[in-house]
Amino acid sequence: MTKTFCQSCSMPLENTEILGTEKDGSKSSEYCLYCYEEGAFKQPDLTMEQMIEICVPFMKEEGMEESAARELLQKHLPELARWKTVSQ
Ligand SMILES: [Zn+2]
Repeated sequence: MTKTFCQSCSMPLENTEILGTEKDGSKSSEYCLYCYEEGAFKQPDLTMEQMIEICVPFMKEEGMEESAARELLQKHLPELARWKTVSQ
């Protein structure tokens, strides 16, 4: 199984428990449950910068330095499906 990441927040989608849901109740293959529920983003107006602010504390909890977490997110998030169209 290839490792996939939430295409909104970059969280690793390691098991089906963490997957968001589509309108018909099936699991999303692209987004986690924190970002996506019943076929829609939970926070549709969120910007990429705001997403970074949300993610940094979680990554710090995982033991990462704030500056390193921020740098990683700034590099990684623009490559994800949700933010691709926004950034360029
Ligand atoms: Zn997510």
